[in-house]
Amino acid sequence: MSRPYLMAGNWKMNKTPSEAVVLAEAVKNMKKGANTRKMVAPSFVCIPAVADVLKGSDVTLAAQNMASVESGAHTGETSVLMLKELGVTAVILGHSERRHVYGENDGLINEKVKLALSHGLEVVLCIGETLEEREAGQANDVCFGQLEGGLAGVSAAQMQNVVIAYEPVWAIGTGKTATPGDAQTVHEACRGKIAELYSASVAESVVIQYGGSVKPGNAAELMAQSDIDGALVGGASLDADSFASIVAFDD
Ligand code: PEP
Repeated sequence: MSRPYLMAGNWKMNKTPSEAVVLAEAVKNMKKGANTRKMVAPSFVCIPAVADVLKGSDVTLAAQNMASVESGAHTGETSVLMLKELGVTAVILGHSERRHVYGENDGLINEKVKLALSHGLEVVLCIGETLEEREAGQANDVCFGQLEGGLAGVSAAQMQNVVIAYEPVWAIGTGKTATPGDAQTVHEACRGKIAELYSASVAESVVIQYGGSVKPGNAAELMAQSDIDGALVGGASLDADSFASIVAFDD
């Protein structure tokens, strides 16, 4: 079975609503291969404007985060119910900036994963080791722990709605990319871990994206690896030409 490629732009805290509309229009019109899917994750305040642009298109609209509960006294948080009403169908959870800057741990991320899945949202669960952990030879074990923690209580059936994004923390926004071979090694190991947690068929079908300084010049080589099924792109997704060339990596 051939897994689809998922090319996702994580716009982080960039683009005002009017700028986001321009970029969303460009993404909507980007050419892609038959086996490639496009996704964008604007900031919360840009979602309504971007949703208008993407309505009826083949671009999946994602949020960059969400609260672990549906509603209540949670100042500054955003609910899954609000996101769904705006047309959001996917959510990025456990991004390294959420883990390392905002202190989110696997337990909290797991609550969010389960809530999002129970509402029918697709989840992009981010995992990845720090430089210190990599240098200590712990890259696989850190990812395995984040998979186990983030996916606790998630059923095999729900895994159809889960994408994993392997993003080595030292490669995010730094210009340093894991070599395709190094990335493939972790992707293959994580697929093995998913087989252990679920089954060989769940592991075969789960999309595992790579993220960390993906750009037009390295996308094709990364995508050529057998266990790399797409990219979660930060910086290069903010420029329409760069993202277009990553989306069309197989052109
Ligand atoms: C990201 O934000 O998920 C990311 C991978 O960023 P960048 O592409 O800028 O490294």
